[in-house]
Amino acid sequence: MPADSPSRSHGRKAIRPALRPRELMQDTPELAGVWTAQVVTLLPGAFPGVLGESLTGRALRDRIWQLQVTDLRPFGEGRHRNVDDTPAGGGAGMVLRADILGRAIEQVRRGVPPSAPLVAPSPRGRRFTQAMARDWAARPGVTLVCGRFEGIDQRALDHYGIEEVSLGDFVLTGGEIAAQAMLDATVRLLPGVLGNAASVEEESFSDGLLEHPHYTRPAEWQGRTIPGVLLSGNHAEIARWRRSEAERLTRDRRPDLWATHAAKDPDDHRG
Ligand code: SAH
Repeated sequence: MPADSPSRSHGRKAIRPALRPRELMQDTPELAGVWTAQVVTLLPGAFPGVLGESLTGRALRDRIWQLQVTDLRPFGEGRHRNVDDTPAGGGAGMVLRADILGRAIEQVRRGVPPSAPLVAPSPRGRRFTQAMARDWAARPGVTLVCGRFEGIDQRALDHYGIEEVSLGDFVLTGGEIAAQAMLDATVRLLPGVLGNAASVEEESFSDGLLEHPHYTRPAEWQGRTIPGVLLSGNHAEIARWRRSEAERLTRDRRPDLWATHAAKDPDDHRG
């Protein structure tokens, strides 16, 4: 890390002497055959972030998946390792340079199977969905290139065929939170990450419906009781109730999902 860059040593030892990007190649920690998330970011300290906690954190420690975070800064140019410049054509903000991103992308993708998607979180992208999480989980891993400022020079997106994927119709300051959300949704689908695999099959979106409501003890709280059917012990009745609640919620809250679902099984939804 260049001597003039802000210190990242929040009580941590500076682990990087002033190395050039090529010398920073970390071909050590990779475990062959382990699902791998690669992240290119200007904020490496933001990782693993929430992914280091709870189920995804335990799975990371158990090597069910691995995370390679690459700091974009050392790929920058000059004394300050600049990574961005002003937008061509004028206007506010800064744009991440294609040449600098290119060097980082070429380094991290070396040896990565092409079937691992190369993605840039972006509000202009295709909306991230449960189906996409399932698809990514079935591949060898994913590479996420986090934007900052105004975003990424279009030529880098075009040259590497980077797919833009959006977390939703709002604008974040950077791709890191979106990357963590997408990785969380994906990693929890890897075999062995969730204790109870059945919960993945029944949850929201798995069959195009939102999930039914949940209740637990106490049986009465603030004058509110648990729906009697859930205490009946009649599993067929319970399954029927949950199904009809899932349909009711989906119809009320997500007409878009409901239309798709109803078109798939028209017989279920006559009348
Ligand atoms: N000027 C851009 C927004 C840039 S926001 C535009 O109007 O489209 C800066 C970075 O934050 C983006 O490059 C992207 O990496 C990330 N980001 C912002 N909103 C996002 C969203 N909804 N989904 C995924 N990533 C997002």
